[in-house]
Amino acid sequence: MKTSRPVLAAALCALILPSVARAAAPLVIAHRGASGYLPEHTLEAKAYAHALGADYLEQDLVLTKDDVPVVLHDIYLDTVSDVAARFPDRKRADGRFYALDLTLAELKQLRVSERFSAKTGRPVYPQRYDSKAAPSEFRVSTLEEELQLIQALNRSTGRRAGIYPEIKQPKWHREQGHDISRIVLPILARYGYATKEDPCYLQCFELTEVRRLRGELGWKGRLVMLIAAAAKEADGVDHGQLCTAEGLAELAALVDGIGPNIGRIVTWAPGGAAKVSELTKLAHAKGLVVHPYTVRWDDLPKGCPSVDDLHTALFRHAGVDGVFTDFTDVTVKWLRGAAVR
Ligand code: CA
Repeated sequence: MKTSRPVLAAALCALILPSVARAAAPLVIAHRGASGYLPEHTLEAKAYAHALGADYLEQDLVLTKDDVPVVLHDIYLDTVSDVAARFPDRKRADGRFYALDLTLAELKQLRVSERFSAKTGRPVYPQRYDSKAAPSEFRVSTLEEELQLIQALNRSTGRRAGIYPEIKQPKWHREQGHDISRIVLPILARYGYATKEDPCYLQCFELTEVRRLRGELGWKGRLVMLIAAAAKEADGVDHGQLCTAEGLAELAALVDGIGPNIGRIVTWAPGGAAKVSELTKLAHAKGLVVHPYTVRWDDLPKGCPSVDDLHTALFRHAGVDGVFTDFTDVTVKWLRGAAVR
């Protein structure tokens, strides 16, 4: 008997669909490490995030004067360290202190603290680690030191936490005469992060650099285009346009996913319900994963009633594939409760 086409198609769907429908468990990406509990980007914060069960640990990367990639959120040093007291003569005309103006040996003399306001000296997140009460010996670490730590922890715990490095302000670095991407990629390769099979997502806010990473610099690993809340990024690219079907189609030829600001995924009207945008659906239709930033229970999006509501909106309503979180354990716990981990 000849089997009809619709019957064959139905049989094939029954075979294929369960694996398609069973999406991978969402990723918990430790934003700057366990930054909700310890000064951001210190090795201590990374070790703690690893212990709390992060799938990926984030590294923001900037260069030193002697071209060593170090793990710092900003090109500036003055809001997370005592640079102003130790190297007062390095202040630029704009009143800021730059990692690029210190050698690695000099950077290693700094003590890192909880992030504070350069203007008031007060902590940005007052409920977090109290650097005044416990100044400790936190230091700036290099990319290599952090990769060594993560790989050693992976060995000793039997877990396989991945890395999520970000090239910070590549245009600015090049204007200063330093090509950060060209320095970072060989280090990643040396530590086994070079292909899409390796547990690594490289991320960047600048589309010009994302194009360069894929083209001129030959990055073959996973790549994520970060999407800002603001319309335009440093390289003049319109990030609103990137979120349209056309923009996402263009991105899909270059990257594996997008890392949008949470506000592009979900917003809350005062006292109202969550309003989920079409962005995740549109990105998924182009085969892109969606990893928004940043979950913080102590700094929720405007109008969002609780961190539970935030997790529900992101994972259950929008269907994102992972989140950057300052509180690895809070996100892990929510996902376990939702039975997706
Ligand atoms: Ca980052």
